[in-house]
Amino acid sequence: MTARVLVVDDIEANRRVMKAKLEARYYTVMLSHTGEHAISSAIHQQPDIILLDVMMPGMDGYEVCRQLKSNIATRHIPIVMLTALTDGDDRLRGLEAGADDFLSKPVDDFALFARLEALSRYNAVADELRTREAANPHTANFTEHEMSTLSKPASVLVVDQNNQEARRVAEALHKVGHEAETWIDAQKGGIKFKELDLIILALSGQRHDALKLCAQMRSLREARDFAIIVTCDEKDEQRAAEGLRIGASDVIQTPLDLQELQARVATQVRRKRYIQILRKRVDTGLELSVIDQLTGLYNRRYMLERLQLWMQRSSVDGKPVSVVAFDIDHFKTVNDVHGHEAGDLVLQEFSERLRTNIRPKDIACRPGGEEFLVIMPETPGDLAYIGAERIRHAIANEPFLVERKNEEIRVTVSAGVATHYGEDALLADLLHRADQALYKAKENGRNRIEKLAA
Ligand SMILES: [Mg+2]
Repeated sequence: MTARVLVVDDIEANRRVMKAKLEARYYTVMLSHTGEHAISSAIHQQPDIILLDVMMPGMDGYEVCRQLKSNIATRHIPIVMLTALTDGDDRLRGLEAGADDFLSKPVDDFALFARLEALSRYNAVADELRTREAANPHTANFTEHEMSTLSKPASVLVVDQNNQEARRVAEALHKVGHEAETWIDAQKGGIKFKELDLIILALSGQRHDALKLCAQMRSLREARDFAIIVTCDEKDEQRAAEGLRIGASDVIQTPLDLQELQARVATQVRRKRYIQILRKRVDTGLELSVIDQLTGLYNRRYMLERLQLWMQRSSVDGKPVSVVAFDIDHFKTVNDVHGHEAGDLVLQEFSERLRTNIRPKDIACRPGGEEFLVIMPETPGDLAYIGAERIRHAIANEPFLVERKNEEIRVTVSAGVATHYGEDALLADLLHRADQALYKAKENGRNRIEKLAA
């Protein structure tokens, strides 16, 4: 995976060395020599990752970081701070300024590329989601609710066979409002991966292979969103870099500076939630694309998809699937006499009655106009007929109130039932048979249900 990296350093030799290193690994490199230049470059060229020197004359790295993270055009770009100092305070200042990660100078190649890869991976997911989301124009900015979830307390699991150390970490996270449990304590109650935001995984001094555990956790399906922070001592740094490669999101060196830990937990949780919000929005967007806007029923596209699926299942397990095609009688007259607005109200009220008179597993769709179709999975024709009769009654027995005009309209519906019994048949044939039955119902006087002999 490659990316466009903006390297910010006041010393020319440093920029040159970094550029050579990155280009050797096929990264595309942009260079800035001052903080001001870096900000303008980030806004206009939108790099994927920024490597930012801390010590610069004029605007220093912290200030650059703060400005980039408070600008809507650049705040999504991950920033790795390069610091000559290994001082904890220094790192803490950077994290408070919003930095996503740190590397000490001189930069160790292995750690550098592992981090760049981890960040590129994060970017790839975020980009993909942002792109899909952009297809839906209704959701341009985060809502207040979404913003507040970004900083909500997190649920954290601490995995360390040294339970005393694990408890110390959990305690430190409790202090800043998170829910934290140690692996050993949590196992008693069963671990709910779905609710976890973050795992802190000790690498050094463990009897198990923590990296293997990391990979396994990453591959859990329900767990695709949680972040993993690996902790390790100095001699395990190479393995930690390996951890970043296989799915850890961050590494912290032991002995743990608890303040740094708290700051990094906050960063990781924010990032994880950001992805979650985007993903949820994408899912909602998909939901919107299968729902008929006027009636809230499923649209034609979804209807065909689901029907295909149920017919395939039926071919495997032999359970019949029925469809009932509905058509409102004389709907054109409703529109002509009462107007299109009343027509829409009738369609909505009809849909509501349809929805409340089917079983939970039935799928009510509006393929178009005044046509409706209910898919009844695992249902033989005679049962589908009874279901359709119930719906017909619900429509015909109670006049429709067209609210704004305070008018009552008598509405009836005709329907045709067709059933797929697991034989080889095409979806189009099944729909055609339902239509034929519907046609027969119209011919035989409307306000009735017909079923073709199977
Ligand atoms: Mg410098």
